[in-house]
Amino acid sequence: MSSPRVEINLTKIEQNTRQLVTMLNTQGIAVTGITKATLGLPKVAQAMMAGGVVRLGDSRIENLEILTAAGIQAPLTLLRSPTPEQAERAVSCASISQVSELTVIQALAVAASKQGSIHGVVLMVELGDLREGVLPHQLMDLAQHTLSTTHIELVGIGTNLACRAGVVPSADNMHELSQLASLLESTLGVHLSIISGGNSANLSWAMSSPAGHINDLRLGESILLGCDPLTRRPLKGLHTDAFSLVVPVIESMAKPTTPHGITGEAAFGVPIAMRERGTIIQTIASIGRQDIDPDGLVAPTGVSVLAASSDHLVLETHALMAPGSELRFGLNYSALLRAMTSPFVTTTFIS
Ligand SMILES: *Cc1c(COP(=O)(O)O)cnc(C)c1O
Repeated sequence: MSSPRVEINLTKIEQNTRQLVTMLNTQGIAVTGITKATLGLPKVAQAMMAGGVVRLGDSRIENLEILTAAGIQAPLTLLRSPTPEQAERAVSCASISQVSELTVIQALAVAASKQGSIHGVVLMVELGDLREGVLPHQLMDLAQHTLSTTHIELVGIGTNLACRAGVVPSADNMHELSQLASLLESTLGVHLSIISGGNSANLSWAMSSPAGHINDLRLGESILLGCDPLTRRPLKGLHTDAFSLVVPVIESMAKPTTPHGITGEAAFGVPIAMRERGTIIQTIASIGRQDIDPDGLVAPTGVSVLAASSDHLVLETHALMAPGSELRFGLNYSALLRAMTSPFVTTTFIS
């Protein structure tokens, strides 16, 4: 009966959202709620909306299509640039795309024209983390081309930090984004409605510095897991246990702590050295690296994670556990993302 499942507490997601929205609103910053870690689950999207986000965003077209099909009413932003071939799908499911290549903007324009709509774009600027975005000195030119493209509306600019190189959002790089927004507005005579400073890693900046012209943050991990991705420490007043992973036990026996026989590589490389500690209770839970990142699990008290292969999670427990009994783990972002993506893990909602 029992199978691995992620249990999602929607009330905690709503409360985390409200707390962050309230805090950022005092700085003049609105929140775009990011659903990608849950693959665009409509119930999670609704909890974020109930908590006060003004928009929803996701990096995957497939997830935005799920939100659209579920009748979610919030404006949707596509966070990762579509390919030119995906332009029609992007325009159908999102009102705004974050982009940096002119050819993509042109493909979106063709798609929007076919669909008789206007598609919004947020131009991404690279401010040090070396992922997506044009270099600052190229932004004016891209903005000018965007403005002269029919069926496209230049709704704003944005940046993304702390994802590839770990560059920290700071007073300096956020000031640079603000300045770029002012420069575009004054030079081109336009109003930018979205100046999007970044993701959950921007929260310490937002709590300690004036926001300048930045009026949007795109928050996923902080809403869902209640922690600051720069330190992975809990954020004050937020729930860190809105998600938990429940896994059934399939074996529990007294076994030695060290292997016997000549050892080579294990299924996932050289295993970490095992210290001789006599006999322990070794318990196996029915999940593996295909479904979770074992390093991202928070084991319950009295349980520790010893190892994981594709399908077996090897644990040490205090007591023997009956097959079919369940263990509940906390999840970090990496473990959550993989669990949500695994077809072998179901999701259930509690409120
Ligand atoms: C995933 C993503 C976010 C949200 O990041 P979190 O750290 O989960 O808040 C924001 N912006 C972009 C471009 C993303 O891909």
